[in-house]
Amino acid sequence: MAKVLGAKCRMCRRAGMKLFIKGDRCYTTKCAIVRRNYPPGQAGAKNSKPRLTGYGIQLREKQKAKQFYGVSETQFANYFTRANSKVGNTADIMVQFLEMRLDNVIYRLGWATSHAQARQFVGHGYFLVDGKKVNIPSYFVKPGSVITIKPRSEKYSYFMELLPKLSEKNLPSWLVTEPGTYSAKVVDAPKTEETVQGLFDMKSIIEFYSR
Ligand code: SF4
Repeated sequence: MAKVLGAKCRMCRRAGMKLFIKGDRCYTTKCAIVRRNYPPGQAGAKNSKPRLTGYGIQLREKQKAKQFYGVSETQFANYFTRANSKVGNTADIMVQFLEMRLDNVIYRLGWATSHAQARQFVGHGYFLVDGKKVNIPSYFVKPGSVITIKPRSEKYSYFMELLPKLSEKNLPSWLVTEPGTYSAKVVDAPKTEETVQGLFDMKSIIEFYSR
């Protein structure tokens, strides 16, 4: 399981934006980006917008994406290699690899408040894909996959309290749920424009790995 190492909020401050690593806290005024939106370290407050080279921008975008999804450097680089070997737009295909991971789908559905929590839940075997238990966070779902919760897990207080709030959750167009249940279906491939746009620049990430 990939771990996000280091102080999580420092990663956001270095990136200069919220990466939503800490779950519920990210939506409160306790968020470090709300309170101290400048890079960590002694010079950070004085130099809130450090000038970056082309390489520096590419590296920062890659780091932001990797930290947002909570995947290791090796996994992230592998997604690029696999995307690059396929016919089509490498950036879009790489986004699909990242978005179709089961842990990310659980996060996008709002069944977990962060990628880290989603990974933990999947690792505990709380979910079924097409009726079969899957406890591998990096497992790829595909259009047509149905994701449900195990009946026993559904009775945990966390999931019982969460269910009524899920109707307020805005879902991406490629995921649909049955209202009032923990049942979701992947109906399409994820779209770059409704997943990562505004968070990080995939073009810079592709340029980073294409050097
Ligand atoms: Fe910390 Fe979350 Fe705010 Fe990032 S978005 S600084 S992880 S509280």
